[in-house]
Amino acid sequence: MLFGVSIDLDELRHYRAIHGLPGSRGPGSVVLSAREFPVYEVALPRLLTWARALEVPLTLFAVGADMAHGPAADALRGASREGHEIGNHTLDHRYDLIRLPRAEIARQISVGCDVLERATGQRPRGFRAPGYTLSDEVLDAVEASGAEYDASVFPCPSYFAAKLAVMTKRAAGGRRSGAIVGDPRALTAPRAPYRRGPRYHERGGGLRMLPVQVTRGARLPFIGTSLVLAPAIVRRALLRGVADDACVNLELHGVEGLDASDGLSELARRQPDLSVPWREKLARLTEIVRALRAAGRRAVTHVELARAALP
Ligand SMILES: [Zn+2]
Repeated sequence: MLFGVSIDLDELRHYRAIHGLPGSRGPGSVVLSAREFPVYEVALPRLLTWARALEVPLTLFAVGADMAHGPAADALRGASREGHEIGNHTLDHRYDLIRLPRAEIARQISVGCDVLERATGQRPRGFRAPGYTLSDEVLDAVEASGAEYDASVFPCPSYFAAKLAVMTKRAAGGRRSGAIVGDPRALTAPRAPYRRGPRYHERGGGLRMLPVQVTRGARLPFIGTSLVLAPAIVRRALLRGVADDACVNLELHGVEGLDASDGLSELARRQPDLSVPWREKLARLTEIVRALRAAGRRAVTHVELARAALP
């Protein structure tokens, strides 16, 4: 029995986009932090220290464009040298990736991969789509980039319903969000690893698909955002919901290593996980990792997880 921990290194400007906040710092914009790259410069060192203490190899899904910032590239290269896996989270983290022309989809994926390889010396073998939003065109481009697996399908009805509700409310209030709702067919995808079929949410013989973890039955999200916000009794229930799975993957985000005191009090009002102190979030995630280990699981990177699940 195996488990893997991934972290999407979404910089805070992507959260600004989700919440429809201004992207630049002109008049009326929200000043988020003294630093432009708090996820790479503040959160990643904390998360790497956490992973080192627990001896967990991470899979870091990174955005290619962030590599233009020297300290971000240095931090990711350091993580790669420590043995963590680097995954492709596209070139620009476009939430509307599936709506772009085919050639631009291909560029977002292949150039993202190339940029990350140049920055770290490690060719990404896995892909995660921004906002978990997939299409067959996107996956064709992922396969063409030489990836071994996708880790974007999120067959989670409660997440989908919550996202739909938030975006409907925001649209009614006249505020645009950078995020899009995505394809409801993903909800019908298997929850265990599978090979891609003619339609990506169905089984076939193609690319390895490593769905974002949901529990059996109700398919509740077993991801960092829900685990750090849930009371202990719910965290234990979520753990029971994945207990029978041969492979468990735990998806975290860079913000798990940040909190309001990092100069982010404005964003914390809209992003509830930022109001929990980062040490507290990592302590809760430590409990989860220890529980997975106590159940006899070994920690591996996502590419190892995908290969073991689907030889
Ligand atoms: Zn992301």
